[in-house]
Amino acid sequence: MDTRDNASRTLLSHLNSLRDAGVRYVALGGASAYASHDNLNGQGEFGGSIAEPGPPVSATSTSTTLPATQRTSDEAKPPVPRLEVLPAPALSLPTKEDTMPPAKGSARPKDPPPLPFDPEEEMTLPELNGAIEGCTRCQLGHGRTNLVFGVGNPDAELVFVGEAPGRDEDAQGIPFVGRAGQMLTRMIENVIEIPRGDVYICNVLKCRPPGNRNPEPGEIDCCEPYLHKQLEIIRPRLIVALGKFAAQFLLATQIPIGKLRGKFGRYRGIPTLATYHPAYLLRNSSQKKVVMGDLLRMKAVLNGETEPVAEIYS
Ligand code: SF4
Repeated sequence: MDTRDNASRTLLSHLNSLRDAGVRYVALGGASAYASHDNLNGQGEFGGSIAEPGPPVSATSTSTTLPATQRTSDEAKPPVPRLEVLPAPALSLPTKEDTMPPAKGSARPKDPPPLPFDPEEEMTLPELNGAIEGCTRCQLGHGRTNLVFGVGNPDAELVFVGEAPGRDEDAQGIPFVGRAGQMLTRMIENVIEIPRGDVYICNVLKCRPPGNRNPEPGEIDCCEPYLHKQLEIIRPRLIVALGKFAAQFLLATQIPIGKLRGKFGRYRGIPTLATYHPAYLLRNSSQKKVVMGDLLRMKAVLNGETEPVAEIYS
């Protein structure tokens, strides 16, 4: 075997190694040659993906198709020579999400079970309730006593949305019972001055998280279509988001509740006012006054005395 054969085999072996390592093309210039790796952020010329791998390098193609070139300036840039024999391997660049370990308790089901109703179908609230009453789309369905669908006027102009059922709600299958529920009733009847039965009350999640822990993202993903459908059926003019979780979820923001409170945003186009949760008021009675101010603002909007000017944009 002569020296040229050895050199060719060495070069061939090297080029194959580069291809396996993700090198997409090689520019040859004078005594130096450089190999360019794909943009590892997935933002560059490859747009986050790389083409299929090609066949193994052949001595013929490496030796005859590539003129040497050297990049001199961005102007009059000669075409970068590409080794047709070294196309990129079939790899998708990992996204940031792929490479980060999931936060504890934040697992999102990749393939959640199908919805138990057709989202395009016209339904009544009782029909929707019946469709989801056996729901186990997320793990909360296995631990509940009762699914807590919602209660109130199906034609309500005003809907109150809380976070998730608590112990009393789970036991009775009705949202906002117990002391927090009584506080909410006073907020509605004494401040807005309408009967509780005139509004609709529900939660983002329909089943109780164990120990009243915060809802997990996967649980929200699974349950949100039910809230969406409820609101599509009711078509309220206005929503009140009760507490940090409901407010941040409905307004799609991480702004602290202390700053969200008293402001309007929109949930699927519906003007939505954030305020404190009644349970919070039971522990912090000094905040009743500010909540009263929020509800009086909502009352004025409800009565057509003022417009719900959006201050939270997501
Ligand atoms: S929380 Fe919602 S999605 Fe999860 S089981 Fe209950 S109804 Fe189904």
